Amino acid sequence: MRNVKTKRISLVVPVLNEQETIGLFLERVLPVVEAASEHISEPLTVEVVFVDDGSRDETAAIISAFARRDARVKLVSLSRNFGKEAALSAGLKYATGDAVIPMDVDLQDPPEVVPEMISKWVAGAKVVEGVRIDRSSDTFLKRLTAGRFYDLFNRLADHPIPANVGDFRLMDREVVDVLLTLGERTRFNKSLFSWVGFSRDEVAFVREPRAMGASKWRYWKLWNFALDGIISSSTAPLRVWTYIGTLLGSLAIAYAGFILGAKLLGNVDVPGYASLMVAVLLLGALNLISLGILGEYIGRISTEVRGRPLYIVERTFGIDASDLPRVSRG
Ligand code: UDP
Ligand code: MG
Repeated sequence: MRNVKTKRISLVVPVLNEQETIGLFLERVLPVVEAASEHISEPLTVEVVFVDDGSRDETAAIISAFARRDARVKLVSLSRNFGKEAALSAGLKYATGDAVIPMDVDLQDPPEVVPEMISKWVAGAKVVEGVRIDRSSDTFLKRLTAGRFYDLFNRLADHPIPANVGDFRLMDREVVDVLLTLGERTRFNKSLFSWVGFSRDEVAFVREPRAMGASKWRYWKLWNFALDGIISSSTAPLRVWTYIGTLLGSLAIAYAGFILGAKLLGNVDVPGYASLMVAVLLLGALNLISLGILGEYIGRISTEVRGRPLYIVERTFGIDASDLPRVSRG
């Protein structure tokens, strides 16, 4: 943390086609966050770093118009849609605050809990997680799949992620600087955020329904996102084949012993067509599944090896290059 008296809070907000929400967001969030200085009796400044993730509507123009009038508003425009995870990573790089808070623009992360996060941060926590205490604003299917995902993820991953904690959290500059040094291309921020550790605290919040517009996530995208998360945090899906193979091998040997015994005792029956088919198809399927999983990992290795940047910044607005943090990586 820098030793200045005034603390700067950066809100990092990825946006995709959100022209109707930008104004609403700024109007509601800025006063609430600035008022936090009363709670902690220390002066605060706030900046909002919007990352335009390749919007096709007026999102970028609207943000630039705000930025022109208000120095607290900044814009990083990506050259196309890179996905929320990449956009968030870009925002973390361009944020200059002593504490950084990723937020969704749709007001689903209520700004009213930000002052509480800030006071826990001032009290010493390096990470203050927002914990959702109520998912009733989600559909039943979303709740069900999210619950199963967290169970599975935490059973498999080398490092668990807390259930019901999303990207909405406060992170100290020290934590953000460490995150910026992590080099992987497949970003699953939720897991990276918890992987780095640091002293943590939490605040509870209720996730509200979207203020306007529609969610940008569809189930197929969420499924791929979940797959990325598990594969980038665990090698269990690769290792499990060793055990399945060993188990099936042992069964095969036992069965071979049984057949040999039957042959020696002279009572050989003609082996069934059905059992042969089942064995062949089952083993074929297992082979294909294990190959597919290998493929998932190899595909990600080749993405990493290619080493292309995570995102491409087309232009920025309101950002002073000399302000940018020391660690930089794109
Ligand atoms: N978003 C983005 N890039 C994408 C998809 C979404 O920057 O490819 C932004 C979106 O504008 C919003 C945030 O990520 O600020 C969360 O998206 P959304 O509300 O659609 O997701 P949900 O809340 O349904 O998980
Ligand atoms: Mg949302």
